[in-house]
Formats: sequence, structure tokens, C-alpha cells
Amino acid sequence: MVDYSFDFLFIGGGILGSACSMALAKGLEERGMSANIAVIDLDLEGEHSSTLKNAGGVRATWRNRANIELCNFSIDFYESIRDEIQFRELGYYWMHGDESWDEINKNYALYEEYGLPVELHSTGKISEFLPFVDNVGGVAGLSISRKAGLLDHYSLREYYRREARVRGVGFFDRIFVNEILLKDKKVDEVRAYDLKKLLDESVEPSELIRHCLVKGVTDTNQETITFKCGVLINTAGAWAPVISNLYNFDDEQIKPRRRQMVLMSCPEVDLSNYGMIIDTSNIYFHKEGKNILAGYSNMDEPYGFNFDFSFHGMDEESMFVKYIWQPLWRRSSKLEKVKLLRGWAGVYAETRDRSGHIGKVNGLRNVYECVAHTGRGLMISYGAAMALSDLILDSKIREELRHAKDMARERPSGALFEELHL
Ligand SMILES: Cc1cc2nc3c(=O)[nH]c(=O)nc-3n(C[C@H](O)[C@H](O)[C@H](O)COP(=O)(O)OP(=O)(O)OC[C@H]3O[C@@H](n4cnc5c(N)ncnc54)[C@H](O)[C@@H]3O)c2cc1C
Repeated sequence: MVDYSFDFLFIGGGILGSACSMALAKGLEERGMSANIAVIDLDLEGEHSSTLKNAGGVRATWRNRANIELCNFSIDFYESIRDEIQFRELGYYWMHGDESWDEINKNYALYEEYGLPVELHSTGKISEFLPFVDNVGGVAGLSISRKAGLLDHYSLREYYRREARVRGVGFFDRIFVNEILLKDKKVDEVRAYDLKKLLDESVEPSELIRHCLVKGVTDTNQETITFKCGVLINTAGAWAPVISNLYNFDDEQIKPRRRQMVLMSCPEVDLSNYGMIIDTSNIYFHKEGKNILAGYSNMDEPYGFNFDFSFHGMDEESMFVKYIWQPLWRRSSKLEKVKLLRGWAGVYAETRDRSGHIGKVNGLRNVYECVAHTGRGLMISYGAAMALSDLILDSKIREELRHAKDMARERPSGALFEELHL
């Protein structure tokens, strides 16, 4: 027996599932059309989703036109709802080593072409812009991107959901997709475990959700629920390849990788006037309330769904000390007296070229995806959602976002490689 039937069904309701469902509903409305749309998710609250783990950084300074256009378009939109999403356009201050300085200089002409205000300054100017820095060893130059900054990911996601809901989109919570049935090269039916009862009765629902996201539903004695759908859209973030497998698309491109962030207090340094600051060591940090939020993307991190936080402690062996505290303290003596308050781990959906996928899934007639924007999912969300909705409704992406078509799966390996990636 089929429980529900929808014209469009999204799997995954993080920032991208929320944005894409809103964009589709708006697109239909603008064209005088209507359709039934639903978004299903194991955990709409998203405690372990990438969306609620992220650093809130927003910029458009990429190497590839697709990423620039989508992020730039998104930032224009974020400016229009600035107060609601606490968008603080305070810039990205990037202290570059030799290689990344070469890269940003190479990309500069493209930034000018797109009208992005980016300043390139010599090392000697650093004390003027970042007075708390007292050691410029290893810094080849400073770039300041002005059309960039920080926003509140929770508020943006809730904005998308509200605008989707008022246009009739339904959000189903505590549903874990475990099977997809195909018919004539189309997805016909999605089957899922309905975990409402189990989670409502659980003393530790958060642990159970985490278990499902790492290992899948291992107790298969659960109630099931079925969804017929006209079009399926995969917006399952780092879990996108798991969903792709269910419709027989063997996805070797996307891999989950743990990323960690820490919150620390440091009363001696006031970062109120800055958006994101990036050091040559690739540590990125910004003011968060009265404290400092910092992250580091260690590239020796193995692939896998790992949510364990391991950057604790202040002893010599501590990853916090090695990867965050020591490099920051070397850069600024004022950052010696930090106190680690807490931290968390989330996952990136990584691709080899560090760019995402937007488009129709090859070999299937009614499946689309908007996935794997690595450390860019928040900043790209509005543009990516608009591009996907154009593709679904018009089979063509609007002119302003025309390079988003490069994000199709067919792109040559490495075509959208991004060097300045964190
Ligand atoms: C530490 C960290 C810092 C980051 N910093 C930034 C930043 O500064 N700026 C930026 O733009 N981006 C940043 N990112 C990246 C950004 O957070 C992600 O790209 C973005 O959140 C991805 O959104 P999503 O909607 O695709 O995935 P998610 O938010 O992960 O949503 C996917 C959803 O799919 C659901 N799901 C999975 N499997 C199933 C299933 N079988 N059945 C039902 N539901 C399922 C999950 O429950 C989840 O809610 C950061 C990420 C991390 C981890």
C-alpha cells in the first residue's frame, strides 16, 4: 500500500533540500503552475547534518565561473534579507602563503570581470588591516574580499523552509529512506522507515539518529512508509551517494570527510570588525558572540561518517594544540591566552575537484541532484537552488547562472578544481 504520492520528492532537508524545495515552489508559482512537493528527512532539526555544523562563511572568490556565479547571486539575495539571517558583510581577510597568493593573483581578473571587490595588499600592510597580528612570517600577501562575510545558517534554513511551506511544500520528519524502486528507467517509489515512534520513545534520540546516519537502520523491524513520486531530487548532503546507490547509481565521486570546529575564549583579541580571517596555516576563524570560532581542515583525515570530536585538551599531543592553538599563537602573541570552550565534528561531502553537482542523474528519466558543495553549501545555497529549479522547470538555467551547467556529472575530471578551498 502506498501512503503518499508527490509530484516532486526531495530526500534531505538540510540547507540545500530546504532551499531547492523553496525555489521549485516559487518557480511553479511564477509560472502559474502548481504541484505537490515534499521533503523527507531523518532529522529535520539537523543536529548531525552538515548545515548545523558549519562556520557561517560566505564569499564568491573562487577559481571557476560556476562557483563564482552561484555564490555571487546568493550573496545578492542574502543582502536583501540581511537582518533576518544576520548577514554581516564584514569581508574575508586571507593571509596567503606563496602558492595561494599566486592563485588569488591569477584569479583576480575574473573577480574584476564579475565586479567582486577584492583588494590585494603586500605583507607590509597587514598591521594596518589586522593590528592583532605581530608575526607575518610566511605571509606572501593579504587579500580582502569585501562582498563576503558571515551569516546565521539556522536562520537561513528556517527562512527557506518558511517560504517553502507557505507555497504548500510538506516537510516529513523522522523518515529514513532505505529502498527505491525503479520502473522504465524512472524512480517509481521510495520506501522508508518511519522512526517517529521509536525516536519519540527513545531516551537518547540524538544518539539513535547519529547511529542511523553512520551505520544505517540496523533494527529492520521498524514500521515502513512509502512515497510515490513523479520526480525525485537527491539533496542528502554527504549521504547523497548512499541514496544514489538505492537507485543503482554507483557514486565514486562523493566522499564524506570529518571536519572539526572549536569555540574558544580570548578576551585580548577583538574581532568585531572582521568577517572570516584565514591564516597561511589554513586555519579560519571569526568572532562568535563573545568568543572565537575556529576550524581547520586537516587533509590527512580519512573518509567516512565520523562525528567524534577529537580536538580537545591542552596537552602536547592534543590536536587542538597542534592544529589550532600553536599556529594562531605564532601569528599573534595575543592569541596565547585562549581557553578552549567546546567543539564539534561534522562532515563535508567532498568531491575530487572540490566542486558540487547540480543536474539530472544520468540514465534515469526523473531524478535530479544538488549535492556535494563541500565547504560551500551554505554560501551557494540560494543560487544552486535557483539553477536546479530552472533546470527542472525549463530544462535551461537562467543566463546569470549559465555556468552552473558545468556542474553536471559529465564534466571532465578536475574541470572545476578549486585551489583556495578550506
Ligand atoms: C565544520 C564545517 C564547516 C563548514 N563551514 C562552511 C562555511 O563556512 N560556509 C559554507 O558555505 N559551508 C560550510 N560548510 C559546508 C556546509 O555546511 C555544507 O556544504 C552544507 O551544509 C550541505 O548542506 P546539505 O543540505 O547538502 O546537507 P545536510 O545539511 O547534511 O543535509 C542532508 C540531510 O539529509 C538527511 N539524510 C541523509 N540520509 C538520509 C536518509 N537515508 N533518509 C532521510 N534523510 C536522510 C540528513 O538527516 C540531513 O539532514 C561547512 C561544513 C562543516 C562540516
